[in-house]
Amino acid sequence: MDTIFVVNAGSSSVKFQIFSIEGEGRLRRQIKGQMDGIGRRPRLRASGVEGEPLADRAYPIESVSDVPAAMSVVGGWLRNEIRVSPIAVGHRVVHGGPDFSEPVLIDHGVVARLERFVALAPLHQPHNLAPIRSLLANFPKLPQVACFDTAFHRTHDAVSDYYAIPYQLYAEGVRRYGFHGLSYEYVAKTLAHIAPEIAKGLVIVAHLGSGASMCALKGGRSVESTMGFTALDGLPMGTRPGQLDPGVVLYLISELKMSASDVQKFLYGDCGLKGLSGVSNDMRELEASEDKRAKLAVEYFVHRICLNAGMLAAALQGLDAFVFTAGIGENSTGIRARVADQLGWLGVTLDPTANSRHARLISGSDSLVPVYVIPTDEELMIAQHTLALLMGAPTSSARQERVP
Ligand code: AMP
Repeated sequence: MDTIFVVNAGSSSVKFQIFSIEGEGRLRRQIKGQMDGIGRRPRLRASGVEGEPLADRAYPIESVSDVPAAMSVVGGWLRNEIRVSPIAVGHRVVHGGPDFSEPVLIDHGVVARLERFVALAPLHQPHNLAPIRSLLANFPKLPQVACFDTAFHRTHDAVSDYYAIPYQLYAEGVRRYGFHGLSYEYVAKTLAHIAPEIAKGLVIVAHLGSGASMCALKGGRSVESTMGFTALDGLPMGTRPGQLDPGVVLYLISELKMSASDVQKFLYGDCGLKGLSGVSNDMRELEASEDKRAKLAVEYFVHRICLNAGMLAAALQGLDAFVFTAGIGENSTGIRARVADQLGWLGVTLDPTANSRHARLISGSDSLVPVYVIPTDEELMIAQHTLALLMGAPTSSARQERVP
């Protein structure tokens, strides 16, 4: 059985999936797993097609001290115990910088170019590149494909890509990139199957998970996103604040004497729903809580989604559909109902029964704008891109630099 290995490596975990290649290039998920607690309390967990457990075992810290070591343990487990030898590996890579507008077959030259973007995503890019480098060293003939969170947004007009700061910074790469692109690409493709006419129009997608952003799609292409230079911007998230006056950061530095690394830890780990509520970063706990600040955090989350929906509707100059996706968007009846209520001015109504059943179409029959719930699948997107490149589809083309 030919398979594709999909890898999503972070600082302390490596998530992976195995897809089998079936007839006519169809892909079927066979294994889902992750190595958690790298360098702390390493643990490998994996399950099969029906969710049946395949592995749940702890490892000594010394044997899984970093991401390459985790890759080697996972690879050994797949080869020796599960008897799977993938024919290619697809990686999630957070930053393709200004250059990459499509997935790309990896070689040493590509790795060198991607290393230049470490400064643009210091918390993610090095961990994404670590398994690529170790596989390139140990299995130089194994095809590897990089799939970028930024690539889907490279279709933005220049005016959406700039900050009002001196052009030199833009030239250095300080731009509004946008993230969650693999999720938006999957949703756009799925919408084109379930509602082809609507997918040709003006659509807002709300990716509401522990990371959260929204994207404006025109004819299935991204024209605006709420995220910018980093994945800190836009909507409030589990532990990130979303849009923030840069003056707040100046205050943290000048008045609270925080260092750059303190500010980084604070903005990525202590803000958002967690910081505002003081209760939790998990929407399930916040929705269940009677705590006043938990209620405020939920209200703030909904408020910012609806403000950003207005902004994106303006960017699109209209709205033909609204889509919810990711952990909160796919599962929280309450958040969807509150967002829809506040989007009533756009002609949105919900069907409460469809909403509580998590149906695919949850808008009321009188709604001027259909509202969908489309569960995202970034890993399948990566596997599809990897297979397409293996089968000789065009590889990444370097995008022309834009001039102001
Ligand atoms: P994701 O990052 O897409 O995996 O989403 C994870 C987040 O989804 C969690 O942190 C929860 O806050 C949220 N979530 C998952 N299930 C539910 C649910 N039933 N109701 C509300 N929020 C949920």
